[in-house]
Amino acid sequence: MKKYDVAVIGGATSGSFFARKMAEKGYNVLVIDRNPLEKIGTRYDIFHIGRKEFERFGIPRPVKGDKEWAFEFETNYTAAPSGKYPIKTFDPMVGLHMHDYTVLMNEWAKEKGVVFIYSASFEDFVYENGKISGFTYSTEDGTEEVLAKCIVDCSGIESIPRRKLPENALVEKFEISPEDMFYVVLKYVKFKDPDFVYNTSSTGWPFYKSWLAPQADPNGGILGIGACNSYKQAETILEDVIKTIPLPEYTIVHTEKGKTPYTRPPYSFVTDNFIVTGDSGCLTKPNNGEGVTSSMVHMEIAADVLDEAIKQNDLSCKNLWKINTLYNEKQGADFASTRALLTKIVKAKKDEFEFFFEKGHDFLQAFLDGAADGPEIKINMGQLIPALVKILGGILTGKVSFVTLKEAAGGFILSGKLKKHYLAFPKSPEGYHEWVKEADALWKKAGKMQ
Ligand SMILES: Cc1cc2nc3c(=O)[nH]c(=O)nc-3n(C[C@H](O)[C@H](O)[C@H](O)COP(=O)(O)OP(=O)(O)OC[C@H]3O[C@@H](n4cnc5c(N)ncnc54)[C@H](O)[C@@H]3O)c2cc1C
Repeated sequence: MKKYDVAVIGGATSGSFFARKMAEKGYNVLVIDRNPLEKIGTRYDIFHIGRKEFERFGIPRPVKGDKEWAFEFETNYTAAPSGKYPIKTFDPMVGLHMHDYTVLMNEWAKEKGVVFIYSASFEDFVYENGKISGFTYSTEDGTEEVLAKCIVDCSGIESIPRRKLPENALVEKFEISPEDMFYVVLKYVKFKDPDFVYNTSSTGWPFYKSWLAPQADPNGGILGIGACNSYKQAETILEDVIKTIPLPEYTIVHTEKGKTPYTRPPYSFVTDNFIVTGDSGCLTKPNNGEGVTSSMVHMEIAADVLDEAIKQNDLSCKNLWKINTLYNEKQGADFASTRALLTKIVKAKKDEFEFFFEKGHDFLQAFLDGAADGPEIKINMGQLIPALVKILGGILTGKVSFVTLKEAAGGFILSGKLKKHYLAFPKSPEGYHEWVKEADALWKKAGKMQ
């Protein structure tokens, strides 16, 4: 039976990144993935990484001409439900092919000695003295057992290992349910006018959670949508987008579908000898459900804490706990507050969205610049007060309902409370259960994204 320092379940972007980080620190690392190499990262084709993220995380940066590279653009427009009043933000993006980039990340991890076993499905944990000490996995040749000091779950949205943790583990074992994920539908379109080029910007319509992004073919685009509950719900809303937004004539070339978590992460990412991260840890961005690099923020912290813990020969939950507190300080508290705020404010009706875009341009510009800039959307009083005056005008003229104002105001208050609560996350597992009671009460008030 093989023994590793670290064994990672799931070899896509998160698994490759974490494995490489630990191998760089000198550890022997195994990654298993249930897919064969030729199927790895094939859930969908095009995804985006912010241009500045490559340097920030030290990950491979494909350039024009490389097979992983699809396009780059710098400008985003965000517009009203009618398509009018676009707000321009600067957010340089690189579009990449998911399969090719995942294979590149696998190679990048292997360069540092990481061992990959493909077509190998996690089955269950193995225990020694009541603590996780490894796992079994199945291949077409049968079942194998592997031992490791730390098991890391990078298995994505199904979260199979996390959901198989023992009852006493502090990591929650919830299944990510249909109301806690975005069902994403991507229509790859080709424009009828052969001279029409759509690869220099992207446009989003937040009322519908829909967008038109570029694709590898400059004469094409990706008409996308994310909606909770079902693909049917996403397709129905997309029909409304297609009817309402004036778009250049196109034909649909093909359609892709995929799911991404849209819910709070488990309160603790660690238990004895175990860490969860990536989509299995629900580490996607609250403003768009993207998760490739937001997970890397978590994994950088996790790799440093795990390194210390291995050196101390103590991988207890208590000794890995710093992953929770450091992550909440760096990103988790901001994501929690933004998620609660957005969950409340997107409840506004179509006409109200239209009104905000027409009258609240300066406020929305500051809001969207903030969203492009970092994990927390920072709004100051100088931006908030004129916006409130306009909303008040909207209430007096019947353009905005009092209920919407109440929801939005409640969202701002709740987001502040959640941020404070996450920053006060207990420094050790002792205060955890008390902290959870208050956190549960706040999330109940936040409700679900509709
Ligand atoms: C349509 C769509 C578009 C998106 N666009 C973007 C974007 O532009 N930018 C962005 O940052 N994010 C985007 N996201 C989100 C992003 O895809 C995820 O956040 C990210 O891929 C998560 O990476 P991961 O490695 O944690 O999980 P995954 O990519 O899901 O990888 C999990 C891996 O674990 C393996 N696995 C699962 N179960 C087992 C098991 N039991 N045993 C062994 N192996 C197992 C799987 O085969 C898989 O390879 C998008 C999501 C969707 C659905």
